[in-house]
Amino acid sequence: MTPTTRRQAEALDAKDPLRDLRDAFDLPADMIYLDGNSLGPPPRCALQRLENVAQREWKDGLIRSWNDARWIDLPKRCGAKIARLIGAAENDVIVCDTVSINIFKLAAALLARRQGALACEADEFPTDGYILQGLSRLAGTPLQHLPAGAPEDAFKSGAGLLVKSAVHYRTAAVADIAAWERAAAKTGAAIIWDLSHATGLIDLDLENAGARYAVGCGYKFLNGGPGAPAFVYAAEKEAAELLQPLCGWMGHAAPFDFANDYRPAAGVNRFACGTPPILSLSALDAALDIFDGVDMAAVENKARALGDLFLARASAFGLESPSPGPGERRGGHVALQLCEGYAVIQALIAQGVIGDFRAPDLMRFGFSPLYIRFADLWDAAEKLKTILDTEEWRNPAYGRKGKVT
Ligand SMILES: *Cc1c(COP(=O)(O)O)cnc(C)c1O
Repeated sequence: MTPTTRRQAEALDAKDPLRDLRDAFDLPADMIYLDGNSLGPPPRCALQRLENVAQREWKDGLIRSWNDARWIDLPKRCGAKIARLIGAAENDVIVCDTVSINIFKLAAALLARRQGALACEADEFPTDGYILQGLSRLAGTPLQHLPAGAPEDAFKSGAGLLVKSAVHYRTAAVADIAAWERAAAKTGAAIIWDLSHATGLIDLDLENAGARYAVGCGYKFLNGGPGAPAFVYAAEKEAAELLQPLCGWMGHAAPFDFANDYRPAAGVNRFACGTPPILSLSALDAALDIFDGVDMAAVENKARALGDLFLARASAFGLESPSPGPGERRGGHVALQLCEGYAVIQALIAQGVIGDFRAPDLMRFGFSPLYIRFADLWDAAEKLKTILDTEEWRNPAYGRKGKVT
């Protein structure tokens, strides 16, 4: 039952099986943080780990820490922790580079082995399309911008390699991964899943859904910190046949042999390229421990219930949303459509409710189930209503745009 009073929202918090996880985060007082889908807040253990890595492993251990603190294995150790969250075998995930770079490496490796055009949906997250444009120019392979639609239609006009988000960054619509994989299999096409808004939020089961390739983000729902490295998943059998073009020494089978010729490391490990960013990786490694023993089905369910509450309040205020409606499967955020959205978000931020804005007209509110309470959403919605009622957003200070929105 979606709460219709603050009391009912508090009652949901009282029986929330995830409620104790909030204590693991260092959240500013008097703030409701609804942007964990863009940048997760710091887990306390990640802050401690950063201190330790800087003061002991780097300052005292110096170069010895590559072995003594096992820095060299961090990309694989983090990969194994992420594997559990996405339903992959622990050796099939490696943490490296950014989502953009990982899309390039995977797409280029796959393109070398198949026919057909590159493809992504027209309203896909921009970097995914940009990277495919660059690869299309480089490889002389056409790129299709598909209309959003059913999986059966996507591969009809010759798409051989599709990059697709599992949770859409604007609407939070969730793709049926198994259905898309079945449609792709009919024409021999491949799908690279972009799990940026899905990892750490949706109860993913890649192996059972037949997904073979994926990338995802470390700094959103995984709370790995600003610019945390991303990950690559490639199923073992497929990975063994892929040669990615950014074949740097860290993806070599034996980097410290300093051999002249490249020989790919086993499986997905060949997707590593250069020296791993140890400070960022250490923060991510610690942050991932928050998910230890956490039931991802419970996480997804709470995210949906939080979204249901916020949508119900927003609709009571007359706001429209392109996000999946109450009760439907949805990612960890809700978008509300409003021409004045940018200024409204700025007014909300000034009152301690942090969301973000996606041009041209979407206000986006993210609900990480690890630390957001139902009562928080009740309060955030009340502030939103007040700002709309009083038209406080008209204050010219709220119209000024920063470089990052
Ligand atoms: C956040 C996000 C990215 C980020 O890409 P980076 O290269 O890591 O900056 C990519 N794709 C999607 C769908 C995202 O949500």
